Amino acid sequence: MAGAFWAIVEDDRQGNPKKVTAEVLGEATRLAGQAGGQAEAVWLTDKASEAGLKYLAEWGAKRVWLVENAALAPYRGEVWTPVLAELATKESPKAILGAVTSRQREALARLAARLGAGLAADSVALTLQGDSLVATRPVYAGKLLAKMTWSKGPWLVTLRPNVFKPADEQAGATAAVERPSVSMPGEQMKLAERREEVSTGLPELAEAEIVVSGGRGLKGPENFVILEELAKVIGAAVGASRAAVDAGWRPHRFQIGQTGRTISPKLYLGFGISGAIQHLAGMRTSKVICAINKDPEAPIFKIADYGIVGDLFEVAPALATEFKKLLEKS
Ligand SMILES: Cc1cc2nc3c(=O)[nH]c(=O)nc-3n(C[C@H](O)[C@H](O)[C@H](O)COP(=O)(O)OP(=O)(O)OC[C@H]3O[C@@H](n4cnc5c(N)ncnc54)[C@H](O)[C@@H]3O)c2cc1C
Repeated sequence: MAGAFWAIVEDDRQGNPKKVTAEVLGEATRLAGQAGGQAEAVWLTDKASEAGLKYLAEWGAKRVWLVENAALAPYRGEVWTPVLAELATKESPKAILGAVTSRQREALARLAARLGAGLAADSVALTLQGDSLVATRPVYAGKLLAKMTWSKGPWLVTLRPNVFKPADEQAGATAAVERPSVSMPGEQMKLAERREEVSTGLPELAEAEIVVSGGRGLKGPENFVILEELAKVIGAAVGASRAAVDAGWRPHRFQIGQTGRTISPKLYLGFGISGAIQHLAGMRTSKVICAINKDPEAPIFKIADYGIVGDLFEVAPALATEFKKLLEKS
């Protein structure tokens, strides 16, 4: 529908939209309410589910554009982009909102190029001013916040996870489900091999409310177990600095920073991380930052809300013990 605010669905590949989709739909609903349009979800998947569709409706989608096709998974930009572009050209939404996830940050950049539209990547705030949308996004590795607007539509935006308020669930709400006919692009690349990542059993890094992160100060891959123990106690995800990733101690998907993941948890705990600007670029919008470093001059203390000057090999187990006691009491 022209004037609609689209939210691109991020799912778990099992037919369930992820929590970040509730944030994107919440924002699409809020903006559509102000602009006099409606929020709509766009779900590209090989496997939708009734439960997933119900979530989208309850998170505010008045309509779901469902494109279900085996070619859409695993994600490939060259398949998603023409499908999204065809749909957007036919339906002329006012705005297309996605999340800062590995696939959507790429898909929306490609889509913007296809449509000749502007993209506000990694936005942390959106406001409607008259007939314009204004996006706030960090620039220069998070040192400054820039405000930008569009000279023409559609407005494309990716939203940083954990920053926007998730949609208020409207139990029992329903959405019209449209299955548009779109042309699937011919195969350009073949999947040669697929390897499943071993699950850590801990929350997903970009969505976690608490993140425990380790750097070169950990001294070796075997010592990440100390952080995992703490993470288990407080329900946190474990991340890493690039120094730890480059050393081969953690896979790249756990890297936080400019060339890794961007996170905005409620609480970030950094162990043995100096606080290089490229690391800060990925975590400085965390609500509360706590740094643990044996060097009182470490730059990370400049942006930390709380700092512990000490040896992480003593501090991390001590925190795990104390948190455990506190949580057992409550
Ligand atoms: C183009 C580019 C992109 C980059 N992208 C990223 C990125 O995405 N993410 C990223 O993280 N980095 C990135 N970097 C690298 C970045 O510049 C830093 O080199 C890196 O972040 C340093 O990692 P670190 O803090 O773990 O290591 P270090 O800087 O070596 O810091 C280790 C810290 O551990 C402390 N320490 C040591 N032992 C202990 C102990 N026992 N207890 C407590 N503290 C201890 C030390 O005091 C020190 O402060 C990038 C660099 C470039 C040039």
